Amino acid sequence: CGIFGVVNDKQASQTLLRGLKALEYRGYDSAGIATIQNGDLGCRRAPGKLLNLEAIVQQLPLEGLTGIAHTRWATHGKPNEANAHPHLSLNVAVVHNGIIENADFLRTQLSAAGVQFVGETDTEVLPHLIANYLQADLCPALAIQQALKEVKGTFALGILIKGMEDQIIATRRGSPLVVGFNAESAFIASDMIATSGMADEILYLEEDDIAIVKADSVHIIDAQGTPVFRDKVSVDHNQ
Ligand code: GLU
Repeated sequence: CGIFGVVNDKQASQTLLRGLKALEYRGYDSAGIATIQNGDLGCRRAPGKLLNLEAIVQQLPLEGLTGIAHTRWATHGKPNEANAHPHLSLNVAVVHNGIIENADFLRTQLSAAGVQFVGETDTEVLPHLIANYLQADLCPALAIQQALKEVKGTFALGILIKGMEDQIIATRRGSPLVVGFNAESAFIASDMIATSGMADEILYLEEDDIAIVKADSVHIIDAQGTPVFRDKVSVDHNQ
């Protein structure tokens, strides 16, 4: 139901929790965060209120400068820890707003190819699908674009790839997603309210855009794979 992400922040996990707090008003039944710690993906998730997630993060802190976060409003699968986002394959972590309509079909195909699923969500097919295309040696943006050609439904996605600590990949189809920047860090969020007090400039992704979001740059390709520019607008901090 809410997505947030941050690139290059020494307090990344605290910033992720702060972003999720700003998205609480949208409603949710569980929450989670993932960061890249020493090149590896680390993940903490909890059903119920953000307080539960905060307690887990306090007990088992997540290091790292870059991460993604999610508040979930379950559409497929119970609101429990296994179904909370982020969802991971070996080298990809994904947070998702929306519904993957052909998830059953994709799950059957991926299971036949040996993928073990741990939960019941529609989302869990995505990290595995993307991982398959990354294995084919495509660059991340093209791998994600190919994977999403197989997907029917609506989504805003924040994606982390193991070993790529300097970036989040963000994409959307039918659900909104903004990218924000300040002097040190970059952010993604399903709602610009979540970046308030953090981002000085924001841009809105358009349908099927895929954005490689780094602290000091954003590279966007459109549905055809053509590089595109999206205008940044300044944020008025007094509003
Ligand atoms: N369909 C996904 C799920 O049930 C995402 C729901 C959401 O947007 O929070 O996990």
